[in-house]
Amino acid sequence: MHVILVEDDAVLADGLARVLQGHGMAVDVLRNGSEADLALQRPDAADVAVLDIGLPGIDGFEVVRRLRARGSQLPVLLLTARDAVEDRVRGLETGADDYLVKPFATPELVARVRALARRNAPKPSVLAIGDLVLDTGAKRARVRDKVIDLSVREWAVLEYLLQHVSRVVSKQQIIDAILPWGEDVTPNAVEVYISRVRQKTADAGITIKTIRGFGYMLEPASHA
Ligand code: CA
Repeated sequence: MHVILVEDDAVLADGLARVLQGHGMAVDVLRNGSEADLALQRPDAADVAVLDIGLPGIDGFEVVRRLRARGSQLPVLLLTARDAVEDRVRGLETGADDYLVKPFATPELVARVRALARRNAPKPSVLAIGDLVLDTGAKRARVRDKVIDLSVREWAVLEYLLQHVSRVVSKQQIIDAILPWGEDVTPNAVEVYISRVRQKTADAGITIKTIRGFGYMLEPASHA
């Protein structure tokens, strides 16, 4: 198991790294948020990230926000200061999976990291909802037996929505997902892709709801 540990307190970081290594984990220690943000852009950067909130440069919240905006589901454990209840809430809302309050017992850290790694079992290569099936390996979309023809960007939009079923995703998240390298896509273009994807999946038993002011949400069509 591979863990990225981001902690600017060198003594604490080394101690925690030794504990995790003692349990058979490979650990990369990073000291600031910018390094973490960069390292976590690699698709297979780690199995779990352990992130301190208070970091030089980009803080832990922002690292998680960017990670989730790229569509990554990498499990994240936040390390928060004692009594900072707001930090815990904000961390979870930003997309962290769990948190530990400093100071904590190291066996608890090991247990949480292991639990998060288990939760992140290998992602299925087939995504399905309603009558829609996306084979992400073959890059093929089918509605029942019929193959539907999607452009590269339409595919990326639909795949991203299927990875976030029944969750609201913002236009910016979709933009980040379809173009990880920063090329320009306007919010209006996203609306166009969404509209085309809706047309092409009209009989797939799904709905892509517009959540006004926020973005979109893919759900199974209601049978009402
Ligand atoms: Ca810190």
